Amino acid sequence: MSKPKSTVEKHVFQAEIRQLLDILAHSLYTHRDIFVRELISNAADALDKARFKSIKGESLADPNLDFEIQIELDKDKRLFTIRDTGIGMTHDELVNNIGTIAHSGTSEFIKQLGENGGDKLNLIGRFGVGFYSVFMAGDKVEITTRPADPETPAYRWTSDGQGSYEIEPGPADAKRGTEIRVHLREDAQQFAEKYTIESAIKKYSNFVPFPIKVDGEQINKQSAIWREPKTAVKEEQYKEFFKFIANETEEPLTWMHFSADAPIQFHALLFVPKTNREAIGFGKDETGINLFVRRVMVDNHAQEVLPDYLRFVRGVLDSDDLPLNISRETLQENAYLHKISSTVVGRFLSHLQELAEKEPKIYREIWQQYGRVLKEGYMDFAHKEKLAPLFRFDSSKNSEAGATVSLSDYVKRMRDKQEAIYYLSGATREAIEKNPTLEIFKAKDIEVLYCTDPVDEFALPGLIEFDKKPLQSVDQADLKKIEGIEPLEKKEEAESAPEVSDKELRDLARRFKDILGDRVEEVVLSERLVDSPAVLVGTTPGLSAQMEKLMHMMQHDTPMPKRKMEINGKHPLIHRLLKIYQKDAKSPFLQQAVETLFDSVVLLDGMITDPHAMALRTQQMLTQSTELYMKDLKEEK
Ligand code: ADP
Repeated sequence: MSKPKSTVEKHVFQAEIRQLLDILAHSLYTHRDIFVRELISNAADALDKARFKSIKGESLADPNLDFEIQIELDKDKRLFTIRDTGIGMTHDELVNNIGTIAHSGTSEFIKQLGENGGDKLNLIGRFGVGFYSVFMAGDKVEITTRPADPETPAYRWTSDGQGSYEIEPGPADAKRGTEIRVHLREDAQQFAEKYTIESAIKKYSNFVPFPIKVDGEQINKQSAIWREPKTAVKEEQYKEFFKFIANETEEPLTWMHFSADAPIQFHALLFVPKTNREAIGFGKDETGINLFVRRVMVDNHAQEVLPDYLRFVRGVLDSDDLPLNISRETLQENAYLHKISSTVVGRFLSHLQELAEKEPKIYREIWQQYGRVLKEGYMDFAHKEKLAPLFRFDSSKNSEAGATVSLSDYVKRMRDKQEAIYYLSGATREAIEKNPTLEIFKAKDIEVLYCTDPVDEFALPGLIEFDKKPLQSVDQADLKKIEGIEPLEKKEEAESAPEVSDKELRDLARRFKDILGDRVEEVVLSERLVDSPAVLVGTTPGLSAQMEKLMHMMQHDTPMPKRKMEINGKHPLIHRLLKIYQKDAKSPFLQQAVETLFDSVVLLDGMITDPHAMALRTQQMLTQSTELYMKDLKEEK
């Protein structure tokens, strides 16, 4: 055994450390329990290293000692002692590791701490400050450490955190590992209370994979199951773990357990809760999973890992490649985290896709709960390819309530010569079904997705295309593109429809426009109507009628969107109006009829601006038609 240096050496802390110690001791009074986390984390690291040595077959001092962390509390003496059976430190390691600042980011952190008034607590909570945080609670700290190498002696390090520390040989009977004894400051005596320490452990260190005992009792119950191979974790354990981290009583709908080794090492365990809290009035969910670095939780609500549209996901990400002392700001910029995040998102979306294929019932539940949130992801171009196939819609081909189709289902049953994927938005399925713009699609048996969710208005055009097929709103569709698609069964030609020429109809349309004036952009002959006499369609290319309405509702000062009126040249009502027009172009009845027809299409369109005038016109119309009816009655007599 090499001989311990026998004298007491006095060392002075690095200037930065002195600065840090000063801040820690004088200006931080809450979140001080972080020092427990930091010491446990160091102990767990040291245990990891010792375990690794032993796995490699190297001999350890005190080989019979269990790998564990013991905390002892003495209220009367105001002592907090933490002991680990880890790798320990040599004399030089004590000097180099506990007396200098190794991390390049630390000086910057100290600078920020010094400058930031109110934000200090936040900063310290996120950064962690390593071993020195112990001086938030203690005014004297003694470290006794014995390296795992059986030949190396123990040393003792002592400091009051005032600028210097002393090192002397440790007791000959010191056991493998490190003991840190903290003499608590008068205002920090709660850290000698079991309750305080227990809560800190449960809050920060519950998944440290070594037993943490406080006065002999093991406090941490859970192991880091996300770090275990999938085959070693039972379904029950997953469920229990989920309930613990998500604070849930229900079981998760699904989970994904995934580990990667190269190029970046990480473990992810993600869960989908059964109930969407957002949908039951809990307000917008905050994105957030537990971020661990080397088994130590650095953020229990890390928003940088998953995008907003996966905010319902709960779980854990743990990586050895991230720095433990990481702040929110540096998290956002961390290139590793970006890569991890992108891999995790991709994997998770694939997991959902797999679920949709293998467990459609469960996926359906997920969609019901979170479909609306998932659709917000249409802007995530990096994952569009994986996201779009997860989307589900109601459709003109769905007969049972609540049934949905995927875009792939849709594409599979597209009609011959059909090039685009068509959708139509509206408040309800019923409202959409009655929309006259659908008629030509129904007649040609072209499937249309029914979109009743406002986010669809953004999500579908946002996707632009799926499987190389453009997504188009029915009321914006270029009808030339479906000209060549034949109806499945040819309808019997309408019984002896009177011959009217397009020219005659165009004249009538012109008269319509005269009557309606500024209320419509133009009146044209329709190619999309089959059963209805008329319809209003939008005039802004690329914007569906529904979208125009939404925009108008959101920005009240934008003018009412202009509409184009289309009339159905095969409809008996239009034929009759044509006759009246041809007999008397200025007929007041024609005027009334056109106005009323217009009112009816406005009602269908849903943008009613003047209900009083509308009601009045309907009543005038009724008065006129009853008068005609009375005339008929008289003539019959
Ligand atoms: P960090 O843990 O971020 O490296 P710390 O200031 O907490 O920063 O610790 C500095 C170094 O001191 C550690 O990297 C480690 O080498 C050493 N150390 C701290 N605590 C222990 C311990 N319980 N056992 C062995 N080494 C330790």
